[in-house]
Amino acid sequence: MNFEIIRDPRLMRARGEDLRRDGRRVAVVPTMGYLHDGHLSLLRAARASADVVILTIFVNPTQFGPNEDLARYPRDEDGDLAKARGCGIDLAFCPDAAAMYPPGAQTFVEVRELARPLCGEKRPGHFAGVATVVTKLFNLTQANVAFFGAKDFQQLAVIRRLVRDLDLGVEIVGVPIVREPDGLAMSSRNAYLSADERRQALALSAGLAAAEAAFAAGERDVAALVATAGALIAAQPAARIDYLELRDADELAPLERVDRPAVMALAVFIGKTRLIDNRVLRP
Ligand code: AMP
Repeated sequence: MNFEIIRDPRLMRARGEDLRRDGRRVAVVPTMGYLHDGHLSLLRAARASADVVILTIFVNPTQFGPNEDLARYPRDEDGDLAKARGCGIDLAFCPDAAAMYPPGAQTFVEVRELARPLCGEKRPGHFAGVATVVTKLFNLTQANVAFFGAKDFQQLAVIRRLVRDLDLGVEIVGVPIVREPDGLAMSSRNAYLSADERRQALALSAGLAAAEAAFAAGERDVAALVATAGALIAAQPAARIDYLELRDADELAPLERVDRPAVMALAVFIGKTRLIDNRVLRP
């Protein structure tokens, strides 16, 4: 298949239907662009499992709050397409916001309980924006399978539930977090960090690692594990914890003791930059 860039949602839909009709297994990798190795690992996993790989690049306005970084979110479409083509993608879908949300758009997809805590509580409306755009991207691409990163743990849980509850019929594959050599989870937003903030941001993964070490040594008390991670993070002058919680990994319900798979999830401002990370603890 010759590499192709599509910007018009109607063309994308028509192309997706053709691919389906031809019996091709189609994978989609939704992103907001400014690609790093985390995104590329999703593309490589997609390439290994499908006949046709579609990368979508769309900085989705409906998942940003009014005081968030939509306007300054980093963009580099040419660089992204070069990197993605290096991973062997077949098609890039890069719509603009006006095409995805024409005037009068007023239908949103809401996942309830799973989308309430953590990022859902701190970013009201965020997961409705995510669930809506992902539903649209599934409809437009007609993909059989979609790849998402475990870096956005709650997002992955929300999307799995969305697909199940609305019978979307798309297989969802979660891909492990890709980190910098020193442990910082890769993120497009890392580009916002100054050199000093970049050093302080290491406390996120270090805090999670400290909690995991305590867990491995037998600690099961949630408050104690959270305090272990929190102390490391709070020691950084530029850090402000937005949330740091250890919850049941399936339903994201609160826990007192880790007696089943659990996820320690955090969002921390380093200066003005909000970063997220997580680690699953399995008894
Ligand atoms: P974004 O462009 O930030 O919306 O991310 C697009 C996809 O890439 C999402 O499924 C993310 O979970 C995934 N992703 C982002 N960063 C990483 C990472 N460090 N490791 C693995 N997946 C990631």
